[in-house]
Amino acid sequence: MKTLRLILGDQLNYQHSWFDQKNNDIVYFIAEMRQETDYVKHHIQKVVGFFAAMRSFTEWLKKEGHEVIYYKINDGENTQKLPENILQLIDSEKIEKFEYQLPDEYRLDVQLKEFCEKLEIQYEVYDTEHFLSDRLEVEETFRGKKQYLMETFYRKMRKKYELLMDNGQPEGGDWNYDEENRKPWKEGTSIPDRNFEFNDVSEILSEVEKSGAQTFGEIDPERFIWPVERSQAEKALKRFVNDFLPNFGKFQDALAQDKDFLFHSLLSFALNSKILSPKEVIEKAIDAYRTRDDISLAAIEGFVRQIIGWREFMRGIYWAKMPDYEHKNFFDHDRELPEWYWTGETKMNCLKQSIKGSLKNAYAHHIQRLMVTGNFALLAGIDPDDLDKWYLGIYIDAIQWVEITNTRGMSQFADGGIVGTKPYVSSSNYINKMGNYCKNCSYSQSKKTGENACPFNSLYWNFYDRHWDKLEKNPRIAMMYRTWDRMGNEKQEEYLSQAQHYLKNINNL
Ligand code: FAD
Ligand code: SF4
Repeated sequence: MKTLRLILGDQLNYQHSWFDQKNNDIVYFIAEMRQETDYVKHHIQKVVGFFAAMRSFTEWLKKEGHEVIYYKINDGENTQKLPENILQLIDSEKIEKFEYQLPDEYRLDVQLKEFCEKLEIQYEVYDTEHFLSDRLEVEETFRGKKQYLMETFYRKMRKKYELLMDNGQPEGGDWNYDEENRKPWKEGTSIPDRNFEFNDVSEILSEVEKSGAQTFGEIDPERFIWPVERSQAEKALKRFVNDFLPNFGKFQDALAQDKDFLFHSLLSFALNSKILSPKEVIEKAIDAYRTRDDISLAAIEGFVRQIIGWREFMRGIYWAKMPDYEHKNFFDHDRELPEWYWTGETKMNCLKQSIKGSLKNAYAHHIQRLMVTGNFALLAGIDPDDLDKWYLGIYIDAIQWVEITNTRGMSQFADGGIVGTKPYVSSSNYINKMGNYCKNCSYSQSKKTGENACPFNSLYWNFYDRHWDKLEKNPRIAMMYRTWDRMGNEKQEEYLSQAQHYLKNINNL
């Protein structure tokens, strides 16, 4: 039966069972489409990176003997819309059956479901064979409970896959080594060279420019750093495990001037496009831990937690809570995103470093996303819709299932406490503690009010004051309100008017 198999841009799973055997009746279809470049404004590296990875995957499929129809962005027959493209091929290729893999984005899931309901030929849906948990595993684990605890799910996953386990107990006796991990940046620490295997993406870049797709951000087309094919991703994984994993946990939360990547893995693009599987990533990391003595239990536990814990958990939350999740706005925040989120032109050094780095690399590490750009946005009361568009557009790894749960959930508490037990907000103290951004800032970190006072300090108390009714009963926050009360009216007024002044002039901070 002549079958058309769709592969979406984030379904580049070289190890999928679809490709085990060659079958002359099967045609694969992969397409660069304006429906995918235009749903938000994207960083140029994100568009180019996905197209480059899709093209490399197509080359591989063809080399393996599979038949592939690939639509480039400017191809004449490309309608730029998924349903129209498929219908056209069903007709021209005399297709009798349509098959696709479960999309990871709700919008595509709905689009394909609705499309198939109207199809006059047979269709079948397959798993992507990528994740370690099913779409609904998180929902089933927490059914009937008000809160979803990552730690509970993580422990379940450790047991299920017997990872770092010793006779049913966590290796080393503890589930969590955060105490040993998450140290501040230490001046003078040397970071190994990244030794990127650069790609030349000049041709794709000019095609994207010609297409008229609206993008932003920087790109050096002859030195594109992100792995776009399987062997590059494997090498990137190997380099991370060899050179960066030993210090991963320790500096996981550090912030350092002019150091965009620290000891992070930079594997999120290869993982989210499915070029690498989470299973192989953790297996390689655990193998190294077993055979080398420079990787501590804390370092490996910290890394495994991110992949089998946070990553799988966020996907589960997404499928448990969509489509309502994308409209959640617990604090009713409605302020527009400051203009400098698109340029990095702000005097606040922490934000300048995090945003300029994001524009340059289409990447920021977790603490820049959570405790700098996310923290500021929450303190300033930015509309989560605006913020979602920004995070979804700017990062090379941003796909809605993992972007929105991190943004609305972990970072903005817009879900009212599904992902986190309390909002991740901090004054300048945390940013100052974790690195050297404040030393290089034109604002004074220790000043709370008055000229040059760090905006985080007054915005922090303004946030708590403003949301007293929603947060006062949260037991994890009660102490903050006691401190606020003890300050007395005069001091409180000083903080609040300083915050109002900054909010009024937010575009000039
Ligand atoms: P590392 O620090 O090396 O971590 C290793 C891997 O663990 C990552 O590649 C990732 O797959 C996984 N991981 C770590 N933390 C998380 C997390 N909180 N949720 C899910 N997976 C995690 N991650 C994305 O992949 N796409 C996004 O669009 C995205 N948006 C985010 C938005 C905000 C506001 C925040 C706070 C976090 C976001 N994250 C997102 C999570 C995290 O910041 C990135 O996964 C990480 O920075 C990617 O860089 P890395 O590969 O060097 O990660
Ligand atoms: Fe950021 Fe304030 Fe520190 Fe400046 S002083 S880097 S604005 S936290």
